[in-house]
Amino acid sequence: MTNVKSDPNLLNEVREYGHFDVNACYQCGSCTVSCSLAKDSASFPRRTMRYVLLGLKGLLRGSLEPWLCYYCGDCSTACPRETEPGEAMMTLRRYLTSRYDWTGLSRKFYQSKAWELGGLFAVGAFMALLILLFHGPLVTERVELNTFAPVHLVHYFDLAMFAVLAFFLFTNAFRMYWFIMHEGRGAGILDIIRGFKEDGFGYVRREGEKVRIPLIVFLSQVWTIIWNFASQKLFLACSRNTGRWLKHFLLVSGYVLMLLLVVVFLLWFQTDNIYPLYHPQRWLGYYATAVLLYGALEIIIGRIRKREQIHRFSDFSDWMFPVLLLLTAVTGILVHIFRYMGLPLATYYMYSIHLVIAVAMLVVEVPFGKWAHLLYRPLAVYFQAVREKALEQKVPEGAVLDHA
Ligand code: SF4
Ligand code: SF4
Repeated sequence: MTNVKSDPNLLNEVREYGHFDVNACYQCGSCTVSCSLAKDSASFPRRTMRYVLLGLKGLLRGSLEPWLCYYCGDCSTACPRETEPGEAMMTLRRYLTSRYDWTGLSRKFYQSKAWELGGLFAVGAFMALLILLFHGPLVTERVELNTFAPVHLVHYFDLAMFAVLAFFLFTNAFRMYWFIMHEGRGAGILDIIRGFKEDGFGYVRREGEKVRIPLIVFLSQVWTIIWNFASQKLFLACSRNTGRWLKHFLLVSGYVLMLLLVVVFLLWFQTDNIYPLYHPQRWLGYYATAVLLYGALEIIIGRIRKREQIHRFSDFSDWMFPVLLLLTAVTGILVHIFRYMGLPLATYYMYSIHLVIAVAMLVVEVPFGKWAHLLYRPLAVYFQAVREKALEQKVPEGAVLDHA
């Protein structure tokens, strides 16, 4: 049964995750009209804002809408009451991230700077201890990074760390799925699970009409996860600004490439051989580093200047993400420079600092922080696509679909 209990504390709770000041909203609809992702829905992005004001925690927790907003800020610019609906969606994404996380760490990190800094420090200190205990001999006649940090050992550590991070991220994603199936109404997925309970597989309901969703529809939409992750198509549609989409696209390509280089291809990537400039080991590394460095700097400068609507409000977590990314990129570049300058001790120390920062950033940010959206967004698009596909097949021609 739909959870319709009202929680009077919900508004205060949501406000602990950022700016959320929608009391002044008088439902004029300007935000919906200005939003290029609202399609034909009359309630995007306002519906979840109403859930918060009405204390409808279950419905909010099972809602997809905050993930279907790509934060162009057009609605905030259009709002005559300055209620900042775009930033409200951002706050709700943080809130939902913390609800999906079963460990409770995400909630602590978002609500307390001390917890976030403490978490980063604790993971960094643990990493430093591992390096102290397990590093190899410090060869000082020449740079031998693979003697100081045996690449097989680093590779095993990488694989173990990513297995642990994937465990947390995917179990959190399962909770997202669970909330949407059992508590959500925003994307109509609740109705699918109702159908599942009643009779076979799944249904959507529309104005009393039951529409069955065959398994093939769920399977046929799996490609949307991959396609949306790879193309960032909705980001382009949202911003209507090719430059912003391109920057985001390059940043994501930098993450993915660096992830592949350090997790899958580390034995090839971390070597003491100095290859010529045209060798792929060098230019792939340079490309990933350059886009990560540029992306991090661009975000930081944008947040300092506050010229764009999307940078007007910055939560502590909005700073930590680009700052850690910048530090990771800069220390990685310094390792490279010291190695090429033939400075053994400087290379080993900088490499250790680089690992401490990178591991702390990944452990705190991937399953519990900002980076989790890399999985939650494509998943939300998938759930939405399943519903739309089902309705498209069954609803009479000319009927208007409610996408929200
Ligand atoms: S534009 Fe502002 S006031 Fe109008 S419905 Fe949207 S949030 Fe409310
Ligand atoms: S920020 Fe952009 S995508 Fe998000 S609700 Fe507002 S107009 Fe739509």
